[in-house]
Amino acid sequence: MSTELPIAPTSTDAPYEDPLDLMDEIDALKKEKDATILAHFYTDGEIQDIADFTGDSLKLARDATKVTTSTIVFAGVHFMGESAKIMNPEKTVLIPDLLAGCSLAESCPPDKLAAFQEELRAQGRDFVTVAYINTSAAVKSLCDWIVTSGNARELIEQQVPKDKEILFVPDQHLGRYLMEVTGRDMILWPGSCMVHEIFSLQDLNRAKRRNPDSIIIAHPECPHNILEVSDFIGGTEKLRQFCMSKTEPTTFLVATEVAMIHPLKQAAPQHEYVPVPGIMADSGETCACNRCPHMARNTLQKVRDCLRDGGPEITWQPFFDKAKEVLERSLLESPKQPPAGD
Ligand code: SF4
Repeated sequence: MSTELPIAPTSTDAPYEDPLDLMDEIDALKKEKDATILAHFYTDGEIQDIADFTGDSLKLARDATKVTTSTIVFAGVHFMGESAKIMNPEKTVLIPDLLAGCSLAESCPPDKLAAFQEELRAQGRDFVTVAYINTSAAVKSLCDWIVTSGNARELIEQQVPKDKEILFVPDQHLGRYLMEVTGRDMILWPGSCMVHEIFSLQDLNRAKRRNPDSIIIAHPECPHNILEVSDFIGGTEKLRQFCMSKTEPTTFLVATEVAMIHPLKQAAPQHEYVPVPGIMADSGETCACNRCPHMARNTLQKVRDCLRDGGPEITWQPFFDKAKEVLERSLLESPKQPPAGD
């Protein structure tokens, strides 16, 4: 039941097409094919502009259940398309690029997780597996709970009995943050997101010195040294709500995927948003690696092509049944908090 995907290259050789023409074409195809477009906050702004729903991974999974058309186009990454299919088995779910994976989801292959769980059981450990929503459906099917960065703390506190150990997968940084806020000890899977992993503390400090009155907002997938100096930590939807709650024009230093600036500007245009740059581990050079190469595989052309061609499609897999059970229980029984995921 492997769902491992190749690491996505960042470039595209597609010939140039006028974005406005493409948007018109997509609009016409949406009607012709009876389709709804869902776009993650980390996709290009122009894709978010033509989408019917935008949001984080959990909000979009929930939005997918409200869709009335027969087809869903999910502009995001593979595991998000899987979640949309799991929540809507009867609908056709298309994704613009089948190779749009996720380094975090791929850091936890289902066979390795199953083997590790077996090892823990053999040691007599009594544990519950809690997975961040950024996991493949195959991994979700092996877990007890699926959480998002927005509801993880409450779900763990309310649903996981104190006498059980917690195996948290796949994000070690989010797991460490949750250990701090819940006071629970956890067995952490050593996964991480390639984008949030490389934010430069040095550049963040430099940007803060240049903007002393600024507020640092960070996604909990960032490493501890970034979270430690942040003023507000939350998933993408929580970050958006936090910026909207400030009425006075403010400068925000944003430590998450750079495309997030687009929905922030739309939601609260009175503020200035400064993306925190990444740093390359090998050379120490500042880079533009705060752009997720997987999300960047989504282009207007590919959205048009998948609508026109009816593929690539996410098809039902045998382990989706178990993943559906876990996902539905987690979404229905999770505490009533503002949704927030990747
Ligand atoms: S930003 Fe990170 S966690 Fe989100 S899709 Fe890209 S690789 Fe995965």
